[in-house]
Amino acid sequence: MPNIAVLPGDCIGPEIMNAALEIFKAAQQVTNTNYTIQSYPFGGAAIDAVGEPLPASTLAGAKAADAVLLAAIGGPKWNDAKERPEAGLLKIRKSLNLFANIRPTKITPGMVQYSPLKPDIAKNTDFVIVRELTSGIYFGQPRRLGTADAVDTSHYTEAEIKRILEVAFTMAQSRQKHVTVLDKANVLATSKLWRQVAATVAPNYPDVTMDFEYVDAAAMKIVSNPTQFDVIATSNLFGDILSDEAAAITGSIGTIPSESRGIAGPNLYEPIHGSAPDIAGKGIANPIAMINSVVMMLTNTFHDTQTAGVIQNALNQTIEAGTLTPDFGGNATTTSMTTAIIKAIEATK
Ligand code: ATP
Ligand code: MG
Repeated sequence: MPNIAVLPGDCIGPEIMNAALEIFKAAQQVTNTNYTIQSYPFGGAAIDAVGEPLPASTLAGAKAADAVLLAAIGGPKWNDAKERPEAGLLKIRKSLNLFANIRPTKITPGMVQYSPLKPDIAKNTDFVIVRELTSGIYFGQPRRLGTADAVDTSHYTEAEIKRILEVAFTMAQSRQKHVTVLDKANVLATSKLWRQVAATVAPNYPDVTMDFEYVDAAAMKIVSNPTQFDVIATSNLFGDILSDEAAAITGSIGTIPSESRGIAGPNLYEPIHGSAPDIAGKGIANPIAMINSVVMMLTNTFHDTQTAGVIQNALNQTIEAGTLTPDFGGNATTTSMTTAIIKAIEATK
C-alpha cells in the first residue's frame, strides 16, 4: 500500500493540511484507492514537543515513505529557539538528497481573472520550471567574502546537468513534449556545458523537442507571453529567480504547489508559500496550494491520475463557483471551501 509521511508544520500548516487530507480521503472513496498516511511532528511543533525541529523518528518516517507531504513551518514563536524550525527544513532536504525543484505555473479558467496577464494569454499559460537544487553558484568553491573583494563560483559537473535534464525531458514526455533550456551561454562557461550536455541528452527523447534561450529574454516572456513554454530546465540561481517570477503571474502564492525530487528516496511536496503567522488560527487560510500539492504527488509519484483528476475537477468547480478565501477577495473560510470541494467530489460518485 502506498505510504505517505505527512508533516503538518506550523501556523496555517495544520489548517491547510487537514483540509487537503479530508479532500484526499473523499477522493479515495470515489476511486477505491487506499493510501496509508502517517503524521510526524516537524518544525516549530517538533521543537515544542521534543526540543528539536527534525526529530530522528520524523526523519526515519520520511525516509521510509513513498512520498512526503509538507505544509509550511516556522513563525515568530520560535524566533529565539536554539535551533530554528527552518534548520529542520535544510536538514530534511539534505538527508533526502532533493536535487530537483519543480514548480508548475498553470492558470485554470477560474483563476484567469486574478492574473496580471492578458486573459487570452493567461488561459493558455501552463508550464513547469525544473530547477537544479544542489549545485551551481550556491555551492561552488571557492567562495570568499573580503572587504575589498568577494568570490562566488558557479560550478556544474556533467553528471549533475544530465540528471536534472533527464527529469525535465521525462516530464515533457507526459506534457506538451517540449523542453526549453534557460542559460546565459553567451557569457558563462557553465551555461555552455549545459548546452553541450543537453545536446547529448535530447536524442534519448526523440518525441521531445528542445530549444535554448537566454535567461534574460525568458524573464521578459514569463511576464508578457509565457504560452510558448512547456518544461523549462535551468540552473539553481536562474531557477530560484524565475520560479518566484512565475508565481506572481498566477495572481497569488496561495495556489502553487512544488515538488522536490529525491535521488533515490521519496519526493517531497509542499505549497510554495510560508506558514502565514499573521492569519494563523483565523480559519481563512487558502488551502488551494496544499490541495494542489496532493494532486502533484498523486500524479508524479503514484501515477494515480484518476484520484488526482477527481480532486482537480472538484477544486476547479469550486473556484469557478467563486467559493474563495479572503486572499482572493472571497468570503469563504478554509472549512467552507473544503466542504464545498468534498461535496463536488461526492457528486462524482
Ligand atoms: P516564508 O519565509 O516561510 O516563505 P514568508 O514571510 O515569505 O514566509 P508567507 O508565510 O508565505 O511569507 O506569507 C506572505 C503573505 O501571504 C502573508 O500575508 C500571508 O498571510 C499570505 N499567505 C501565505 N500563504 C497563504 C495562504 N495559504 N492563504 C492566505 N494567505 C496566505
Ligand atoms: Mg517566502
